[in-house]
Amino acid sequence: LDFDDTVEVRIGSKKHKIHTGIFINGQFVKSVSGKTFPTINASNGEVIAQVQEGDKADIDAAVRAARKAYETVWEKTEGAQRAKYLWKLADLMERDLEFLAGLEALDNGKTQANAAAGDLPLAIGCLRYYSGWCDKIEGKTFMDTHSYMNYTRHEPIGLVGQIIPWNFPILMFAWKIGPALACGNVTVIKPSEKTPLTALALAALIKEAGIPDGVVNVVPGYGPTAGSALAEHPDVHKIAFTGSGRTGRAIMQSSAKSNLKKISLELGGKSPAIVFDDANIESAVNWCKVGIFFNHGQTCCASSRVYVHEAIYDKFLVAYKKVAESIKLGDQFDPATEQGPQVDEVQFNSIMRYIDHGVQEGAKLVTGGKRHGTSGYFVEPTIFADVKEDAKIMQEEIFGPVVAVTTFKSEEEIIKRANASTYGLAAAVFTKDINRAIRVSNALHAGTVWVNCYNVFHQNTPFGGFKESGIGRELGEYALELYTQVKSVKINL
Ligand code: NAD
Repeated sequence: LDFDDTVEVRIGSKKHKIHTGIFINGQFVKSVSGKTFPTINASNGEVIAQVQEGDKADIDAAVRAARKAYETVWEKTEGAQRAKYLWKLADLMERDLEFLAGLEALDNGKTQANAAAGDLPLAIGCLRYYSGWCDKIEGKTFMDTHSYMNYTRHEPIGLVGQIIPWNFPILMFAWKIGPALACGNVTVIKPSEKTPLTALALAALIKEAGIPDGVVNVVPGYGPTAGSALAEHPDVHKIAFTGSGRTGRAIMQSSAKSNLKKISLELGGKSPAIVFDDANIESAVNWCKVGIFFNHGQTCCASSRVYVHEAIYDKFLVAYKKVAESIKLGDQFDPATEQGPQVDEVQFNSIMRYIDHGVQEGAKLVTGGKRHGTSGYFVEPTIFADVKEDAKIMQEEIFGPVVAVTTFKSEEEIIKRANASTYGLAAAVFTKDINRAIRVSNALHAGTVWVNCYNVFHQNTPFGGFKESGIGRELGEYALELYTQVKSVKINL
């Protein structure tokens, strides 16, 4: 190949060569159309690199490569060998951890320190966890008859399409390819057009790990072109998607129009945190800080609605204001920075519009509400208090560092209010009363309930949504169901 897709970029204080090509069949290639698209550094709006823009023709080529890899190599690759590949990939990510965390920070705007301490270790842990599953995908035998022998096989789906968002680009990549490869599938994965760079860096490590060509293909590009071509492709038998509900619906429609793909969806949320009057206020305040301000509020399960018992409301708000104002915004490569810029101008403008709505709807602005600095897409950590239940900022996902706080009187009342949402991704309960903690956790309509904590993830614990927050569960043993299909074999004895 005569195409060198690498370009040199500055990450923090160091220069690195990074990939910008489409990764198909183990090679970085140009887009068929010859088009490229820019990806920007959100702290100053400058273009980091031009990336090859995949669309339908490139998705077709990636699907052909994946299909061939499945039929010629991967279908016959033993689980123990797949385990070695995943473990090797995790080792290489660990070796390159600082570089990957820096590239993630550059492309996404999150801090390098957070990416190095959070996103990368979680992604590596996820790959190692699924490495362990590769040779343990088991069926059952049924002993209910003497005339027939029945057993089940959990077989791979084959060729899966995976579409991921921009808020945790490396982590979402690992959550998708880990269980897919462990279960014996091949994949075409489309990263977000806002953050394509780390997926391409991981593609280079996939090659280095010796994973056979075509088993993982990475096609950067836009949703309505590359994404929908993948969702509509007749040779793709499953789509695993993480992103907004609107796109989730579009993917279900694409699938219905073509070949009725299996679909799993991880979507948005408007997750409530409920702070009872017996809670440890300081601890609850700190977890509610993590809940909404971690990753600049760009977290699907962010605790964007906080309900505080009226007896401790004023005290809670004073402390919450203090922690929000203590958050240091700035350069994502400065180790002292806690919050970098939002991912891009579109997200920034959308968040600022929600803040305007909050003010117009009469909520009390406790702190924040403004742009931070004069360049880059920084939003001050923002707290609104006394927010009405029907206010836009209480109902809709903002996906930024903006939290709506209000009071409640009784357990019965707050369970109803917390559940009165079309979403059901996560929730939290803060109390010292174990009976109440369990009672309220059981009553909440959410895929994850955190008690006296927030945003705590482990690769062995399932994650996904009730209601419009999604279909299916990622992580843990549960994700194996997303990437296998059960066959019953019945033998006449
Ligand atoms: P998005 O839906 O705009 O984009 C997600 C991905 O889908 C991107 O790769 C995009 O290119 C692609 N896409 C867009 N239109 C498409 C189409 N018509 N067909 C196929 N693909 C298409 O979402 P986003 O802005 O990247 O992410 C933010 C949203 O994702 C929020 O709503 C957030 O809550 C949600 N999210 C959920 C989880 C979770 O695990 N539940 C995790 C992260 C983000």
